[in-house]
Formats: sequence, structure tokens, C-alpha cells
Amino acid sequence: MEPVAPGKTRVGWIGTGVMGAAMAGHIREAGYELTVYNRTRAKAEPLLARGAVWAPTPREVARRSDVIFTMVGFPADLRQVVLETDGVIHGVTAGSVLVDMGTGEPALARELYETLQARGVASVDAPVSGGDIGARNASLSIMIGGDAEVVAGLMPLFQCMGKLIIHHGPAGAGQHAKMCNQVLIASSMISVCECLLYGYKAGLDLRKVIESVGSGAAGSWAINNLGPRILKRDFDPGFFVEHFLKDMGIALAEAGRMGIALPGLALAHQLYQSVKALGHGRSGTQALMLALERMSNVEMPAV
Ligand code: NAP
Repeated sequence: MEPVAPGKTRVGWIGTGVMGAAMAGHIREAGYELTVYNRTRAKAEPLLARGAVWAPTPREVARRSDVIFTMVGFPADLRQVVLETDGVIHGVTAGSVLVDMGTGEPALARELYETLQARGVASVDAPVSGGDIGARNASLSIMIGGDAEVVAGLMPLFQCMGKLIIHHGPAGAGQHAKMCNQVLIASSMISVCECLLYGYKAGLDLRKVIESVGSGAAGSWAINNLGPRILKRDFDPGFFVEHFLKDMGIALAEAGRMGIALPGLALAHQLYQSVKALGHGRSGTQALMLALERMSNVEMPAV
């Protein structure tokens, strides 16, 4: 595949939510012609104001684009915007490329790869880590599965959105790498909340605690970025609890298929079920604090 370039490559973007709006914005800023579609048009308006063009369906996005990105929520949404009525598959032309940057099932990534390959269209899975902040700052870590030659051609587009871009292997490998990421985050989110709960009951100044532990060997993105949000009782997303549940469900199913036990992941999955049951499915993942507080009959004040 010829490397992409502004003025030459027409880009399409489907899904302009928390992550997608910011990521697509960087591509527009880099000078690419951009066609967008989202279920709720209002969320695409800021991009339209910056020169992106609206398309009424994913099919129409595909018809007008050489590279089509998807950044929707769940595997069922990806299936809908690509394979179902008015989906990308009905608008693509041979030689174009689909790039899914959402987090989803490795098996679906392989299915899309094979289905589109039969039409002369390449497909790449390129999920990301770095959260809403990474999307806004174009500092995402991008984990890629797909054909090496296609991935190389797409590099200038990935560089608009991310700082660390790694090709992990064939279709589905990007999603597997992202599952490794989610397995790692799952237990660390429990640690972040338990650390703060302990510090609170011990009577410590939690801002000082975050400062001390966040820059030492125990430091993590989660304690440094989500810890302060918890102290402010800011449970807005960020990263939705219901999306994290989706990811942990996928990772647990894959682990089961591979015959391995991941007890830390299973515990986090159960605790997040509780967060959802408390009415916080559309809160950010830092809302885990609410479930742990409830277990210990604690409610930390905003500081
Ligand atoms: P989001 O804010 O819910 O964005 C998803 C967007 O896709 C929404 O604007 C939604 O439309 C649109 N959409 C969903 N289904 C659609 C459909 N069937 N047809 C058309 N549009 C559809 O979620 P997000 O936080 O950006 O996350 C997107 C993906 O990235 C998820 O797979 C998530 O797991 C992953 N991810 C998120 C983060 C994070 O920190 N947020 C980090 C890494 C990866 P509406 O506007 O109508 O809802």
C-alpha cells in the first residue's frame, strides 16, 4: 500500500464519542479530507465546524473514503456499522482500508479481515490505550494487528493520534495486545481504590499520598490521573464502566478458551458488576471507589 498523505488520502471516521471526536480532530488538523458519521449527529458538530463533512450512513462514509476508521462502543456496534444494512461493507471499493480503533473481540477482527479481503479491502485492528487524555493530547499507545505492508502505509495517520505505535502481528493481534492492557488495568484499579481507602481511614492527606506513591515504584497512570478525580468525587467518564465490563468479559472468554486462570481479572469483573448495579455503568472506571467504599461502610468527602 502507498503511504497515506494529506491532500491525497480521503479519510472517513465513524464514531465521534469521547475518544473518536478527539482522534478524528487530529487527523483533520493534519490536513486530511475528513468525512464523518456518528449515531448522534450533535457529537460530530465540532468536527464539522472544523471542515469535516457529514455523511448520512457508514456506507456513504466508505464510498467517499480511502481509509475508514471506526471508533464505536461494543462489538455489536462494530458489526452494525461495518456489516449490516447501510454498513461500510456496502460502500467500500477495492484498495481501501478499514481501521478499527475501538476495543473488541480478536475473533471479530479476524472475521472482518477475511470478509473484507474477499472484496479486495484491507482490515486492521488498532485499539488504543491512554484514555481520554491520551486522545486529546495525541499521545495514545496504538496496538496493531494486520498485514505489515498495510500497517506501514497507514503510519502517518497513526502518528497523528499516537506516540507509541506497535505492530503485534496478524489481524486480531492488536485486540489481543489490548486485552493484555485491560488485564493489567483491572487489578491496578482495585489497588488504586484500596490505597486511597486505606490512606483515608489512616487519616492521611490523600493528595500527599498520591504525590508520594505516584512517583515511586508503585506509581501508575491510574493513580496519577484517576486518583485525583476520585478525591474530587469526579466520576465522569473518561472510560465508561460498561466499556470496561465489555473488555473484561472478552478477556475472560479468551482466557477460558486458552485454558488459563486469571483470578485478579475475574475479581475486578465482579467488583465492576457491582459498580454497574449501583447505577454507574455510564460513569468512569474510577467509580470503582463507590463499590469499595460501600463494602467498608465509608464515604470519603470531596477534597
Ligand atoms: P463513546 O463515547 O460511547 O463513543 C462511541 C461513539 O460511537 C458514540 O459517539 C456513539 O454514538 C457511536 N456509536 C456507537 N454505536 C454506533 C452505531 N451502531 N452506529 C453509529 N455510531 C455508533 O465511547 P468511547 O469512550 O469513545 O470508546 C469507544 C471505544 O474505544 C470503545 O470500544 C472503548 O472500549 C474504547 N476505548 C475507550 C477509551 C476511553 O478511555 N474512553 C480508551 C481506550 C479505548 P452516540 O453518540 O449516539 O452514543
